[in-house]
Amino acid sequence: MSLSCETHVAQAFSEAFGPEPSGVWSAPGRVNLIGEHTDYNEGLCLPIALPQRTYAAVALRTDRRLRLRSLQSPTQYEIDLEDIRPGNPSGWGGYAAGVLWALQDAGHQVRGLDLMLDGHVPLGAGLSSSAALECAVAAAVSDLMDLHLLGDDSARAGLAAICVNAENTIAQAPTGGMDQSAALRCQAGHGLLLDCRDGSVEQVPFDLSADGLALLVMDTRAEHQLVDVQYAQRRASCEDASQQLGLASLREVAFNDLDQALDRLSGNRIRARARHVVTEIERVRQMVALLRAGRLPDVGSLLNASHASMRDDFEISCTELDVAVEAATTHGALGARMTGGGFGGSAIALVPADSSAKVTSAVMDAFSDKGFATPNCFAVTAEAPARRDS
Ligand code: ADP
Ligand code: MG
Repeated sequence: MSLSCETHVAQAFSEAFGPEPSGVWSAPGRVNLIGEHTDYNEGLCLPIALPQRTYAAVALRTDRRLRLRSLQSPTQYEIDLEDIRPGNPSGWGGYAAGVLWALQDAGHQVRGLDLMLDGHVPLGAGLSSSAALECAVAAAVSDLMDLHLLGDDSARAGLAAICVNAENTIAQAPTGGMDQSAALRCQAGHGLLLDCRDGSVEQVPFDLSADGLALLVMDTRAEHQLVDVQYAQRRASCEDASQQLGLASLREVAFNDLDQALDRLSGNRIRARARHVVTEIERVRQMVALLRAGRLPDVGSLLNASHASMRDDFEISCTELDVAVEAATTHGALGARMTGGGFGGSAIALVPADSSAKVTSAVMDAFSDKGFATPNCFAVTAEAPARRDS
């Protein structure tokens, strides 16, 4: 019988450090159902927490040293709390050490620790392994140092903000707030409607099995150059658009006023960027309304429209993502879209559960016909947020 994930990471901790860990904590990866590149526009998004989680076995130390290990990386770190700063440590250690730094930055007293990670969220697939890592570490530190940041949703919202600060400041990745909120604030069986203007959330029922449906994740394994540059350019375009309109963010453009707003923007490209953001926020609203009305099978056209908007207006798709979406929708998916930042990473497809295998093989065949790397396709459900496992 295979070991549970908790036992496995705890054993790896003991092999690396000697004694047993004080406990094991975990946090999930996420897929965003709809609402892409809306977080930094103060808009709406709708992620679910994945069954794939990152596990952290941790023990506190009496000094201020961090010893960091991961079963996914040969790189090991030993660093004092005082030496953590932007860009140091570099690599994956920045995500873990960054959490300790950001907790201190928020006024919490922290100590050193020994950490062993085991991540089951595919790395760099747009499924937010970085936030899963941060939130697993943050959950452990909160419990072990009695910070009480894993309690109700408002405590978890505070912890999410700390993890965002860790990723932005120390790991120097300019992400919005969706990933950490998903890892900490999602609930099983629900999508998390996150309002990125005020950080408020609502739980929206997302029960695939009730409708005989499955949600496929299709990790294209495509890696493209200059993703960070492209991300920064999209953010800058959105800021430019809201400035031209004299608004705090594109969230302030009401969907019904979109045409007038677009008329006031100069340049076709900026108009297309703004159109994606405003229509995407509206699609989130429509999807939430359908889910609340028990009409999950009807959301397919919204997923397709979201993909078209990202491909044509926001221009963040790529051939691999388009091929995955196209193959899925022509072989029985109710709808499909790329998810995450774009330029590679993953797409999702909503499929009748009994068509999962057919859709998956159609996507695999399409990739092999094009000479792309074999995609990693798997079905997911909406699962639990960060927690203590043992
Ligand atoms: P994503 O969050 O979509 O997976 P990112 O580029 O934001 O992609 O984060 C991936 C990075 O997070 C990896 O390159 C690595 O530095 C770090 N990371 C995530 N999980 C782990 C892990 N289990 N062990 C070591 N590093 C990890
Ligand atoms: Mg990430």
